[in-house]
Amino acid sequence: MSHVSLHSLTIKKFHDGLLKKEFSALEMTQAFFGWIEKKDKEIGAYLSLHKDEAVCQAEAADLKIAKGEPLNVLAGAPLAIKDNILIEGLPATAASKILENYKASYDAAVIKKLKNAGAVFLGKTNMDEFAMGSSTENSAFQKTKNPHDLSRVPGGSSGGSAAAVAAHLAVAALGSDTGGSIRQPAAFCGAVGLKPTYGAVSRYGLIAMASSLDQIGPITKTVEDAAILFKEIAGQDAMDSTSSPQARDYGEDLLNPKLEDVKKLRVGIPDEYFIDGLDKEVAAKIEEAISSIKSLGVKVQKTSLPHTKYALSCYYIIMPAEVSSNLERFDGIRYGTRQKADNLLELYKKDRESGFGAEAKRRILLGTFVLSSGYYEAYYAKAQKVRRLIAQDFDEAFREVDVILAPVTPTPAFKIGEKTSDPLSMYLSDIFTIPANLAGLPAVAIPIKAKAGLPVGFQLIGRHWREADILGIGRYYEQL
Ligand code: GLN
Repeated sequence: MSHVSLHSLTIKKFHDGLLKKEFSALEMTQAFFGWIEKKDKEIGAYLSLHKDEAVCQAEAADLKIAKGEPLNVLAGAPLAIKDNILIEGLPATAASKILENYKASYDAAVIKKLKNAGAVFLGKTNMDEFAMGSSTENSAFQKTKNPHDLSRVPGGSSGGSAAAVAAHLAVAALGSDTGGSIRQPAAFCGAVGLKPTYGAVSRYGLIAMASSLDQIGPITKTVEDAAILFKEIAGQDAMDSTSSPQARDYGEDLLNPKLEDVKKLRVGIPDEYFIDGLDKEVAAKIEEAISSIKSLGVKVQKTSLPHTKYALSCYYIIMPAEVSSNLERFDGIRYGTRQKADNLLELYKKDRESGFGAEAKRRILLGTFVLSSGYYEAYYAKAQKVRRLIAQDFDEAFREVDVILAPVTPTPAFKIGEKTSDPLSMYLSDIFTIPANLAGLPAVAIPIKAKAGLPVGFQLIGRHWREADILGIGRYYEQL
């Protein structure tokens, strides 16, 4: 146990260590809580910790080992879970005041799967309120700091999950991604973040932000771990009608990609992603990643996604429209703090006024506006057509290439407070991640190897259901 460092631990290494009896799950869970106690004062990744439950889960994993029962690769693995994913009996605030006292009454589908696998949940992680934001500064409760530079944001909205992984406060984490919320914080924190194909992972028990875009996915230290965790949570679920039967078909190539297959993939670099606003250092590092990928023997060529420039505007109509409708349920009756009021309308007003932060209110207003009669055709209906065009760009590109390589974000992690007064510049940090959500495609952010500087990631976007392609290239890149 003493020689095992939390810093070097991945899901894979944890599992191997358990099998070899180098440590027990309980010892490791306790070691993580010890480290969290010290380190998380500085980082602020967790909103709540659940030691008693975690200890029980770890003991259950150890019991299985003692009995010689077959062990799932995630058994005993200490994970961090974004606070918009429900774990029965535990808080799920989505970092909003309006859910401050809420306790989940059931397990999300992904949690049920992870419980069956024997995973350990250390705690729930900080995020932007209802997953709206790119820096985790929209949390109603606390700021999370980037472990690589405490004056900078960890990204968002899954900033707590990404910071937890980067600061070794968990072996791996779950986040959710509506417009980049897994990939952008992963890139800012030097972690791997996978947004699965829309429909691959059940959203049952995920507090909804924009339902046509939301997906749950892993944030991990390695691409291999991302594949392992994704495989465990993927699958069709009767409780989520948007989860697809195709989610059953993930094969051996997801976990064990063959180099000869990976070499056959053609990677496309879209001109439209290398724009003026792209930071020079990011551009240079992306070039290095491209060279490394070429050195694997993968063919790299140019490609084009001509409607990219409309993606951000399109997203900022569709997303708020869905947000405004999803957040209606927080009315003080079904959910909320139930303020004292003379009548129902007063109650709605008081609860929503005091419960939602500025960004949630901004998006509810925007969404209500674009859906209102007279404006619906001009905004919402038009945005849906543009969404189709953006998806078609990818269909076109995927005739000639198998995978698209792009930056994740235009800049490395920005300073805390730098963009809070300018929502538009905050929105711009998702310019490269949003298209994959609009098109429902799988996309992964992978850290670029570098000796110095802030972490920078590159993004691989694949065909629907071809997580194996993007993770396959990622696996061999990471082994270089
Ligand atoms: N940052 C983007 C937004 O603010 C994406 C959020 C997300 O993916 N949940 O909407």
